[in-house]
Amino acid sequence: TAALLPESIRDDFPILAQTVHGDKQLVFLDSAASSQRPRQVIDAIVRCYEHEYANVHRGIHVLSERATDGYELARRKAQEFLGAEHAHEVIFTAGTTASINTVARSWGDANVGAGDEILLTPMEHHSNLVPWFQLADRTGAVIKHLPMTDDGRLEVDRLGEFLTTKTKLFAFTAVSNTLGTVNPVAKLCRQARAAGVVTLVDAAQSAPHLPTDVRAWDCDFLALSGHKMCGPSGVGLLYGREALLDAMPPFLGGGSMINRVYDDHFTPADLPGKFEAGTPPIAPAIALGAAIDYLQSIGLDRIHAHEQALVAHAWERLSAIEGIRLLGPSPIEHGPDIRAGLVSFVLDRPHSHDIAQLLDNEGVAVRAGHHCTQPLHDRLGITASTRASFYLYNTLAEVDALAEALTTVRDRFKPTGRKRRPREA
Ligand code: PMP
Repeated sequence: TAALLPESIRDDFPILAQTVHGDKQLVFLDSAASSQRPRQVIDAIVRCYEHEYANVHRGIHVLSERATDGYELARRKAQEFLGAEHAHEVIFTAGTTASINTVARSWGDANVGAGDEILLTPMEHHSNLVPWFQLADRTGAVIKHLPMTDDGRLEVDRLGEFLTTKTKLFAFTAVSNTLGTVNPVAKLCRQARAAGVVTLVDAAQSAPHLPTDVRAWDCDFLALSGHKMCGPSGVGLLYGREALLDAMPPFLGGGSMINRVYDDHFTPADLPGKFEAGTPPIAPAIALGAAIDYLQSIGLDRIHAHEQALVAHAWERLSAIEGIRLLGPSPIEHGPDIRAGLVSFVLDRPHSHDIAQLLDNEGVAVRAGHHCTQPLHDRLGITASTRASFYLYNTLAEVDALAEALTTVRDRFKPTGRKRRPREA
């Protein structure tokens, strides 16, 4: 397949064609926090509100039928995107955080007890940590972590040690939002399944950038957010294996999730309604379907290959900067497949927040801080980092712009006297 041409893709993203701080061309390198949307997705939102909006599932009138058809069509697009066997295994949620909390409450409260173990990794986003800590607080379960190497690769060979007879769940990210590491999802799930352990894959950072396949991965649950994959914010997906979802009690109670309500009790609806209480994010879900169409028309494989080229170039350019420490595994040492589209780093000076501020002055948008991965930063012995994250619309020239702006920033803070130790190393 032909390489992706970001210059032509950029025409689809009106927001990118602007200057900031006067005449600085915007260089948007913050897609891991939230991506931008193409015209095709913006148009889908407008079309929904102009022609097909009403509440779904309840109305017996034209607009409600159109909205319901659009909403359910989006579910089937999501099913195909995920590789799920059934459309009713796909639940619309508010995003990755809501998806994981749903599993922690519904499945967790019903299946996890005192002394049971929940296995996590050191590279999880807070949204794949805190819900499990809360579950452990409610139930007396114990949190464990599969170790990782100093360069941010899970110690997959040691997984067997951590899958004990007490382990109930292994929840891990497919791609680290801070390190960029691509984890071997299928291998991890296979080993967990062999040990009778349920798996939850946080696909927030993988689904936008590389193909997803819940059946090939053989995971039990998977969570993602629309806003990181060219879709709107406020909508995401929870995939669950049918047998597990069927057996789980609903978490949120209210309209739509019921079969019948009596004076003092109720019976739940079938899937997927059981987990979609209240009015769902109708237009956002329909637009997420448009985002999926858009990504598939380009091809996730091509997007991933393009980002690998950006990462390789960034790795080369940034590692030449004095006083820099690049986080995560080296694509030179481990090959391009070890990383998805982002590079995080610390400079000996200035501090990450100052770096982001100074880069912003040049029109380069990056993110600074702990990126909702405080335990990971502790593990790396740093308090904060700066992250440049790429997507299908970024160009090699933008990576050069980052490298040049960063070199200028570092030069301004060059020590005048003797060499000092890196502050955050
Ligand atoms: N997991 C990972 C790996 C993420 O990068 C993010 C978003 N930064 C989340 C979970 C949470 O996603 P959301 O805020 O959309 O719920």
